[in-house]
Amino acid sequence: MEVIYTSTRNSAETATASQAILKGLAENGGLFVPNTIPALDVPFETLAKMSYQEVAYEVMSRMLTDFTEEELTYCIRSAYDDKFDTAQIAPLKKVHGANYLELFHGSTIAFKDMALSILPYLLTTSAKKNHIKNDIVILTATSGDTGKAALAGFANVKGTKIIVFYPKDGVSPIQEKQMVTQKGENTFVVGIIGNFDDAQTGVKNMFNDKELAKEMDAANLQFSSANSINIGRLVPQMVYYVYAYSRLVADHSIQAGDAINVVVPTGNFGNILAAYYAKAMGLPIATFICASNENKVLYDFFQTGTYDKNRKFILTSSPSMDILISSNLERLIYQLTGNDAEKNLQFMEALAKEGKYRITPEMKEKLSEFYGGYASEKETAETIRAIYESDGYIMDTHTAVAAAVYQKYVTETGDQTPTVIASTASPYKFTRSVMNAIDHAYDSQSDFELVDTLNQLSGVAIPQAIEDIRSAPILHDRVCDKAEMKAVVKQILQL
Ligand SMILES: *Cc1c(COP(=O)(O)O)cnc(C)c1O
Repeated sequence: MEVIYTSTRNSAETATASQAILKGLAENGGLFVPNTIPALDVPFETLAKMSYQEVAYEVMSRMLTDFTEEELTYCIRSAYDDKFDTAQIAPLKKVHGANYLELFHGSTIAFKDMALSILPYLLTTSAKKNHIKNDIVILTATSGDTGKAALAGFANVKGTKIIVFYPKDGVSPIQEKQMVTQKGENTFVVGIIGNFDDAQTGVKNMFNDKELAKEMDAANLQFSSANSINIGRLVPQMVYYVYAYSRLVADHSIQAGDAINVVVPTGNFGNILAAYYAKAMGLPIATFICASNENKVLYDFFQTGTYDKNRKFILTSSPSMDILISSNLERLIYQLTGNDAEKNLQFMEALAKEGKYRITPEMKEKLSEFYGGYASEKETAETIRAIYESDGYIMDTHTAVAAAVYQKYVTETGDQTPTVIASTASPYKFTRSVMNAIDHAYDSQSDFELVDTLNQLSGVAIPQAIEDIRSAPILHDRVCDKAEMKAVVKQILQL
């Protein structure tokens, strides 16, 4: 069965998988959603014997139906290779009664690698399939991790350029260093005076700018997006939930068919939406625990049915979740309306105009599989320290938000369902916050001293990504105001 992708804002706008990946965003700010999610008709016992790459093929081939077996296998093999520091790609660790799905074993040590290591291959394959002659310009807004993962994925990929905007004062020092040291003639990194939402809005505006699109086309260029609004990001993220489940079956923690819960530290709502889509494919997930930091717009939404971004933007120790507009939530809202693009558009227009919208009681009822929770900065730090002290396992700040919310959930509900916690970054990426949480005695150490101390405490080898930036020269120093983003893009592209 062919899966067709439809815009959340216009039911007449449809695309094949490869066209949707190429476009990134639909017209008018809409997002592409699959019109159906085919069943994963492979027994879990069979999946339990497969490698990550084989599971990836089973899941992705059902969603990206216009890719040939050869094309998809090529993309999967090119992405999930020894860029990852373990053959398991996404190992599952049992710690303190939960299963931590470590999604940070790729080249930039955060979960964005899971999708961004394959997106360049999906995109260049899509361009070929659709006889595109233009070069693809990847335009990306990042709260820290997407940027580096996208840069690493696209660096020196023929027929592509990549421009990354990040909030100059809104990412960790290591995140910034990772980006500004990026090699590759086709890579451009720009810090903006503004926050992540400003960066994301600026990027969205450029995607919707018809004038700019014309000028680009005349110069044989066209935009695409590596942000999690691209379905080429979402589909690869469905894979690891199926993989995690199959490992639990393999080690007899559960029997095929048993329900699990998932806990996802959430920002743009991409990761948790991928889990939701995996359920639609047949993965038995009972509850989706959506964990927020102090920017708890999603927690409030699940509580009240009102999405309201009119609030103070808080810089936390989990910067990749410092987001007030969770773009991918639109895909869920669209589904809650019964796939009614017009209704969805009304909500999104209200969000753009008033910064908020309220869903109907009927829509809210359909959210019963979701549990929204949040963790304060203090609770997050305490969780890191407590799990280190009890189990010797050191997690990053984002994962700790999830772990803290999971503890609250269990206390509140008593639910003992086996649970997978999406572990989204290596503690080495947020070393200072992690070490501060464990003991303030380390506060006076330099960033790289902290790396060595973390290594001693955890016994986990220092990732190559960290070794690499210790000595790397800074290659990007562009900074601009949020109002100048378009001008900077035109300058970079020589338009
Ligand atoms: C991006 C990111 C998140 C949030 O994921 P979404 O898909 O945007 O919800 C959480 N943790 C880390 C480390 C991230 O990089």
